[in-house]
Amino acid sequence: MAATSGSIFGAMLQEFDGAARILNLEPGIWKILTHPKRQIIVSCPVQMDNGEIEVFCGFRVQYNITLGPAKGGIRYHPGVSLHEVTALAAWMTWKCAVAHIPFGGGKGGVICDPTRMSRRELEALTRRYIAEIIDAIGPEKDVPAPDVNTNEQIMAWVMDTYSMHVGHTTTSVVTGKPLEMGGSLGRHEATGRGVTIVARESAKHVGFSIAGATVAIQGFGNVGSVSATLLARAGAKVVAITDWKGGVHNGKGLDVEKLLDYVRQHKTVDGFAGGEPITNDRLFRLDVDVLIPAALENQITMENAPEVRAKVVVEGANGPTTPDAHQHLHQRGIFVVPDILANSSGVTASYFEWVQDRYGYFWTEKEVNERLEAKMCEAFNAVLQTSLKYKVDMRTAAYIVAIGRVATVTRLRGMYA
Ligand code: GLU
Repeated sequence: MAATSGSIFGAMLQEFDGAARILNLEPGIWKILTHPKRQIIVSCPVQMDNGEIEVFCGFRVQYNITLGPAKGGIRYHPGVSLHEVTALAAWMTWKCAVAHIPFGGGKGGVICDPTRMSRRELEALTRRYIAEIIDAIGPEKDVPAPDVNTNEQIMAWVMDTYSMHVGHTTTSVVTGKPLEMGGSLGRHEATGRGVTIVARESAKHVGFSIAGATVAIQGFGNVGSVSATLLARAGAKVVAITDWKGGVHNGKGLDVEKLLDYVRQHKTVDGFAGGEPITNDRLFRLDVDVLIPAALENQITMENAPEVRAKVVVEGANGPTTPDAHQHLHQRGIFVVPDILANSSGVTASYFEWVQDRYGYFWTEKEVNERLEAKMCEAFNAVLQTSLKYKVDMRTAAYIVAIGRVATVTRLRGMYA
């Protein structure tokens, strides 16, 4: 896949190269790990509510499956492209390796605007997309999950479509399902919980306490909203949140529970009376202890990085910081917890769900959360120790850990020819 400059696959390659050089990675393995294993493009005809037929373009990329089945979400967004899905699938590869779970990296996406589609249209699209990629997915092959604009209900349709095709109920083909049909307790909150854990550990490392710390969050979807709730519960002051429509700021701390109620009704934080309006642009420049980009890619760029004043940046989203902006933040002494570590608790809880489905035995929420806490602390410490050992930033360190693990298994398995 060609990397165009300024592209997110190019960003992934840049991050990869920095770590691969430090590891003295041999050229052959370097080549293997910088190419996607499999890219699928499908057309999904759907009869819309007005009777007309629309054809949606969908993708599924299995970037690398050396460690196990491909794992990664399905994204519904007008901006989806093969290029984006490939970069996201590569990041899933490194994320699963950092999290130390036996999965490769995959990602799916459909170009669509789910905010303009009815529930029936979304169901028809989901079922047709899954039918089109049915041969490529499965509990041992590739296990999808939620991502931007997809949720538990959509995962239920994925599970049902696959099960109808193979002729028996197969819960472990997809994670992030409703609890009643093989979902795991704690999965819905897992990504925000992990973001909270790494924010707490980073604060400890940098020298302040998360209790009483000020936090700004971009994004109020699954990751942003759960992070806000759990950070507020941990005593942090969440002072600003923005979403797709607007933002809200309150220097004394927002009432997150009230904001959640407001968003349930209005689908946006815009207009919430418990604070002043704020733009994304201003949110990034706020004088806060912790900044959490939890929306889409390419949000912290050289446009705003020079004015970021946070002590710690925790990447709840995938790829929110461009490589040059990251370099700039690092040089200014800002502690950045990279996406492949910071939001890896989502896929870690997915791994727990897959294990429980295959085992047919389900854990309590306490068990899930305790295992998640242990896995996140293990991953955070492995990356922190690597960053201290090689005197590199946390992102390069996370790549060193991830590439090291995938390369070791690639060497052990050898070349099939
Ligand atoms: N979409 C999430 C991510 O980017 C979760 C993936 C999964 O659980 O497989 O990490």
